[in-house]
Amino acid sequence: RLVCEKIVAAFENPFNLNHYQHYTSPSIGVALFDYDAPSLAEELLRRADMAMYKAKEAGRNGYQFFDTLMETELLQRVALEADLHIAIEAQQFQLHFQPQYNQQHEIVGAEALIRWQHPERGLIMPSQFITMAESSGQIVQIGHWVLQKACQVLLQWSARPQLRSLVLSVNVSPKQYLQPDFVQEVKRMVTETGIHPGRLKLELTESMLVDNVEDIIAKMTALREVGVCFSLDDFGTGYSSLSYLKRLPFDQLKIDQSFVRDMLNGHDHQSIVNAIISLGQSLQLEVLAEGVETDAQLRLLTELGCQAFQGYYFTRPLAIELFEQWVEHNTGKAAKARALEQML
Ligand code: C2E
Ligand code: CA
Ligand code: CA
Repeated sequence: RLVCEKIVAAFENPFNLNHYQHYTSPSIGVALFDYDAPSLAEELLRRADMAMYKAKEAGRNGYQFFDTLMETELLQRVALEADLHIAIEAQQFQLHFQPQYNQQHEIVGAEALIRWQHPERGLIMPSQFITMAESSGQIVQIGHWVLQKACQVLLQWSARPQLRSLVLSVNVSPKQYLQPDFVQEVKRMVTETGIHPGRLKLELTESMLVDNVEDIIAKMTALREVGVCFSLDDFGTGYSSLSYLKRLPFDQLKIDQSFVRDMLNGHDHQSIVNAIISLGQSLQLEVLAEGVETDAQLRLLTELGCQAFQGYYFTRPLAIELFEQWVEHNTGKAAKARALEQML
């Protein structure tokens, strides 16, 4: 460990290479030679390599020692990746829905969140397969399924009075959005289902706004022309500048849940939340806070002027039938409360 730390520390300073100053952040993988392990040099290198990737994943500038768990994890990942290929055709994906509330605590929309019902492993959360699908390119197909499904759901809701005015937010991955036919595809799905385009909201993450800005703007503009809305997800975690934001025609900013979580623990986070809300107001964007878990967070966010909320405080994401029941139950409750208020 001492040796690793020395190497990492040595790279903290720039170094000269061919008259240029270079900076680098090393990731070190270590495999120890021992009598139980196969002594082949190849095997040792393979293990060190695996440990190095782990070190990279952990955020670079560090080191990791190989352990057998890494190998199990890797094998599981490879198996999962293979299973992902059949998941779409075998219709193993589902959408769950997490309600979004306004300041009056009425449900105004929902976020569609994907889950994978694996035949052997049970329900798999997106954190375990979305990154993988992004690097293998399968996200394009998966994202297409999600959009198609979301449009079908909106169509079903359009016939139900308590559900017809809900706006459904759909997560769109960078790779999917950058497909040359993305705009046509969305337009086609909207036209074919005949849904109200304003009920569909696409969530783009702040981190994807770094490259291809002109393409992003052109696509957003084309889709907004037909009425589709846009939300900027995980806001506050990326580096979007103000001048950028002004050019991107978003309808909504979503405050990243990390700020909401720590808002009551430190002044810094509260100032960030406050700044995001003011920014939203000055750019005339709705601000939604996600990851709202407590009454105290909800109160403070409301006080600061946040307009919409989503989080475990209200409910976790729900399977479609449960979500529909949830909305119907809540609309009933709200109507009763209003009637009571009028009587008093
Ligand atoms: P996200 O877009 O930031 O979604 C919010 C995540 O926060 C969801 O996790 C949701 O279940 C969780 N969450 C909601 N309320 C709370 C709360 O009060 N506290 C905490 N701690 N968490 C809360 P989930 O469903 O596991 O999704 C994780 C991520 O996977 C999403 O993050 C999104 O980036 C990605 N994802 C989900 N569905 C899709 C999809 O259809 N397409 C793409 N490309 N990505 C998706
Ligand atoms: Ca999202
Ligand atoms: Ca988010």
